[in-house]
Amino acid sequence: MTPAGLRPASVHIASSRIDAVAAWDEVPSDANLVDAGTDVVMPGVIDTHVHVNEPGRTEWEGFHSATRAAAAGGVTTILDMPLNSIPATTNVAGLDAKREAAHGQTVVNVEYIGGVVPGNVRELEALADAGVRAFKCFLAPSGVDEFANVSENDLRTAFPILRRLGLPLMVHAEDPRELRPGPQNGSRAYEDYLASRPAAAERSAIKMLIDLMEEYPARVHIVHVSSAESIEIIRAARARGLPITVETCPHYLTFAAEEIPDGATEYKCAPPIRDIEERDALWAALLDGSIDCIASDHSPCPPSMKESDGDFFAAWGGIASLQLSLAAVWTGARVREAKLEQMAEWMCTGTARLAGLSTTKGRIASGYDADIVVWNPDLSFVVDPQKLLHRHHVTPYAGRTLYGVVRSTFVAGEQIFPG
Ligand SMILES: [Zn+2]
Repeated sequence: MTPAGLRPASVHIASSRIDAVAAWDEVPSDANLVDAGTDVVMPGVIDTHVHVNEPGRTEWEGFHSATRAAAAGGVTTILDMPLNSIPATTNVAGLDAKREAAHGQTVVNVEYIGGVVPGNVRELEALADAGVRAFKCFLAPSGVDEFANVSENDLRTAFPILRRLGLPLMVHAEDPRELRPGPQNGSRAYEDYLASRPAAAERSAIKMLIDLMEEYPARVHIVHVSSAESIEIIRAARARGLPITVETCPHYLTFAAEEIPDGATEYKCAPPIRDIEERDALWAALLDGSIDCIASDHSPCPPSMKESDGDFFAAWGGIASLQLSLAAVWTGARVREAKLEQMAEWMCTGTARLAGLSTTKGRIASGYDADIVVWNPDLSFVVDPQKLLHRHHVTPYAGRTLYGVVRSTFVAGEQIFPG
């Protein structure tokens, strides 16, 4: 998969980088040759939305398990979200704690995202200097006490600084005023959960962000978009030249509300998985380029917190899919006749651009890092939760047939999967 498209080729690797992309049979006789046969040789997936949770909540997910799951799924770089670990990555001490915890445990590249929370604007420049790739904030409660959501006023203080720093602000866009409480004693009915987080909440939050961008055009990236109504206003803002980008996630592209059984809290995430019409509209927006990229929002927790006796309001919201992301997306993409080139744009090149990595990663081209996934798009497998390398095996993908088998993964020219 070259920047010019899919073609037979040989990829020459020397000291962790791609030295040349040459004709298929142009291979030196003394080369250490890996023959990929007819499999696809693609840039490794760059997943810009992963919650590792270490340190502090390592029993939810840690660097050791997360990066091995990534490798098995063809992911060669992850961006770690600033929350669910303790401390949260809202200052340089928090970032240092992350880096220390990761040290010696990781098999893929790990980059970090800094948090924007009420009262930490003075930390943002130092976090940028220390190497975070982006910032993240919530407009609605995040689910953990140590990572508070920001108000419009907080953002008014942060936007001019973010604009100067040039890094994107990733936003969990749900307007808390549009969220509805659930039934008093919780509920096992998915429709109750869905009704509590309407698409209007997402649209309203994005509208507020766009209004702020008109005043201070800082880069804004909407994470995990779940509804086509949101895409409409993003498209219009972009047409006016505002620097807004957007991702969606494999679960919004795979599942639909109509198919979620009562009590099946493994499907719970926020914003929620919506109906079939919304799923198809997200696909249409991806295919026409309105959605820039796809990230997993891998957000695990211990099984007991996820089950909560089937009460959608008590269960932890988050779906763990780091290892399955490539296959889940391709399974939906192939039936919609998407091209493999589009997969590479959504999951490798597009996310590299978002992460500020596009001069070194996300392409199979001379001078780029030799981070590569070799996979077969025509082979399928049935998801066996026991084979997932995530720390916990709870998954709404259990038993599903997915297309796209990862054969091997390379980071800096070294094979890391199979290990
Ligand atoms: Zn997330």
